Amino acid sequence: NETINKIAAGEVIIRPVSVVKELVENAIDAGASHILVMIEAGGKNQIIIRDNGCGIAYNEIPLAFKRHATSKLATIEDLETINSLGFRGEALSSVSAVARVQVTTRNEDEEVGSRTAFEGGTLINQRVCSYNQGTEVKVWDLFYNTPARRKHLEKDKKEEGLIRNLMNKIALSHPEIAFQIKCNGRIVLDTNGSGKVIDVVNVLYGWEVGSNLIPLDYENSPMKLGGFIGNLKMMRSHREDQIFFINGRYVRNLRLAQALDEAYAGYTMKHQHPFGIVFMELPGRMLDVNIHPAKTEIKIQNESLISLLFKQGIRETLRGSNL
Ligand code: ADP
Ligand code: MG
Repeated sequence: NETINKIAAGEVIIRPVSVVKELVENAIDAGASHILVMIEAGGKNQIIIRDNGCGIAYNEIPLAFKRHATSKLATIEDLETINSLGFRGEALSSVSAVARVQVTTRNEDEEVGSRTAFEGGTLINQRVCSYNQGTEVKVWDLFYNTPARRKHLEKDKKEEGLIRNLMNKIALSHPEIAFQIKCNGRIVLDTNGSGKVIDVVNVLYGWEVGSNLIPLDYENSPMKLGGFIGNLKMMRSHREDQIFFINGRYVRNLRLAQALDEAYAGYTMKHQHPFGIVFMELPGRMLDVNIHPAKTEIKIQNESLISLLFKQGIRETLRGSNL
């Protein structure tokens, strides 16, 4: 059983950023309005995720760490309508299978909290303690029992970069949550949870509407666009600052990135890429979301039509703006 858990863990947890992704998604699902992420040595030494969400009841802890334990899927039909981020019940069990984990939490309906330690997927100690409502998950000695995996990790800076990149995207897609990220004790991201995307963009890039950014607000059924695109001062030599969300979910899609480039044709030089943080809304039936939540690829039905509509939307926005 421990072997099975380790193998299963390998699919989900391949590096520190996978741990951060799963734990932060749990915190979001728990309804947190504040989420703190602290990492040491790119997450290789320690990862702490603290939230003020609903917390986990004392009795639910052992279950939450069992494989395929999830509180988010009551019936199989729910798979169709689920909008919580995690629903396979694999994250906590996978993380605890390949690291040392300590969970401190208090459920909103309970008077006292609890602190529980796991090692290699096994609960080794659980006791009650006082704690504010919410959850703190501390993960350390990642891959201590799977040395081959540990050996394949990149340098601290690289692993840290992956985590910061992920957190930037999560913060953009959840402006209503105040995120604080600390790397080796230094604050590297601090959002205010105002609910406004522009506030997150401003924290990340220091840019403002008017001087650098053009707001995107366009509808051409069945597609809706929101977010911000850069003006001509904001042209980049790379595509890293073209960030797409479809129905609130971060996606990579080359067609959309190319369409964004093409929309600026005539305004820009070759090999330049406009800045863009794009929130696209599409009817769910037009999307084929791979239900493996670790994947960011998404298949859009009728992708050529949608990228054409998208390009039109950008061109109209540019025409109506003060470039
Ligand atoms: P999933 O998220 O797919 O349900 P996980 O293994 O990630 O599976 O988590 C198992 C369960 O533990 C969740 O369904 C949830 O009930 C509980 N849980 C995990 N993290 C948190 C958290 N930060 N706050 C509240 N409950 C949590
Ligand atoms: Mg989860």
